[in-house]
Amino acid sequence: MDYFFNQKIAKNMAFLLNTIFLCMHIFFFLFFSYYHVGIMANFNIFSMIFYFCSYAFIKKNMLALYINLMAFEVIIHMIFAVVCVGTGYGFQMCLICIVSIFFYAEYFSLKMNSGKSNVSGSLLSALSFTSYIGLLFGMYGREPLYVINEKVQLFMCAAMSVITFAVLIASLKLMTLFFLKSEARLSKQAEYDALTGLPNRHYIMRHLNRILEKGEADGYWLAMVDIDNFKGINDTYGHNFGDKALKALACILSDEKHDVTVCRWGGEEFLIVGRLIEASRPPFDKIDSIREQVEEYELMYENGEVNKRVPLTITIGAAAYSKETTIEEWVSIADKRLYVGKYNGKNRVVC
Ligand code: GH3
Ligand code: MG
Ligand code: MG
Repeated sequence: MDYFFNQKIAKNMAFLLNTIFLCMHIFFFLFFSYYHVGIMANFNIFSMIFYFCSYAFIKKNMLALYINLMAFEVIIHMIFAVVCVGTGYGFQMCLICIVSIFFYAEYFSLKMNSGKSNVSGSLLSALSFTSYIGLLFGMYGREPLYVINEKVQLFMCAAMSVITFAVLIASLKLMTLFFLKSEARLSKQAEYDALTGLPNRHYIMRHLNRILEKGEADGYWLAMVDIDNFKGINDTYGHNFGDKALKALACILSDEKHDVTVCRWGGEEFLIVGRLIEASRPPFDKIDSIREQVEEYELMYENGEVNKRVPLTITIGAAAYSKETTIEEWVSIADKRLYVGKYNGKNRVVC
């Protein structure tokens, strides 16, 4: 289930919504009772009971049923209210802002039920829209059943406007926050390697292209790193141990002291990007010290009685940027040097 759209968040939001609606209906009940609008006072007794009982639906995770029943309650309530006191009180505006809640509920429902929703934002909105238009035309030239007074009408219309704006602003703001959070999570998933936690090839290509576009590529070197005889490590000690070796290597390469950007290029290959300092060639000593650090690392294989150190070495091909080349050509030069290193006995750096 989606991290940001879990049952607990949906339940808390439904709980909050229900409490707001219950409070609104208590207010409506007092309002209509005070101004002797009998039909609406009685309707609001029903509404208060409905919202009170709805806590039980929410508690039992019957969220879709709750939203659908709530939609009908709101629509019927607003139709009755407008028929009783007219359109001047703005009750019909609730039919507009409730639409955002319908779609919000549908979105949550889709996320929680893997693409299947028990709430139809479009259908409920169509009902709401039809009721709104029906009320506008239906009430045209018709006297409302109750007349209160103009000041109260203005006050109620202002209150309805505040509610409408508050619901629209709050739901759109929340929706934006959810979108931003899920986008950030998705782009992290798309640009990071799950096993090592390092950036992946997409990330580093974007990074390198940015450097190239800024015209700063000739201030950088890059190096392709490949584990020596890794197939043998996997075959001898198992794939899980191979993964352990990859994680250990990722840790060594990405050590802050090297001051380089590292990515998992794919499989058992890593790409390092660093800044050139006072030279146009990759810093051999620095890169070789990384290789040495890997060679000295004590990668331990532990299995019952067996507890032994497994040699882990890498071969590195490095290249500084040469003018007019593309990123792919730059990487390919480093790759060719890596294979020179492999050919000449592995566990070495070729610049
Ligand atoms: P060389 O010294 O020439 O680089 O030989 P090598 O054995 O390292 O290279 P080869 O290309 O023959 O084998 C690479 C192995 O890396 C094969 C593949 O199963 C393994 N490998 C690739 N990705 C992963 C991974 O995510 N986890 C593990 N455990 N193994 C992986
Ligand atoms: Mg390889
Ligand atoms: Mg290899």
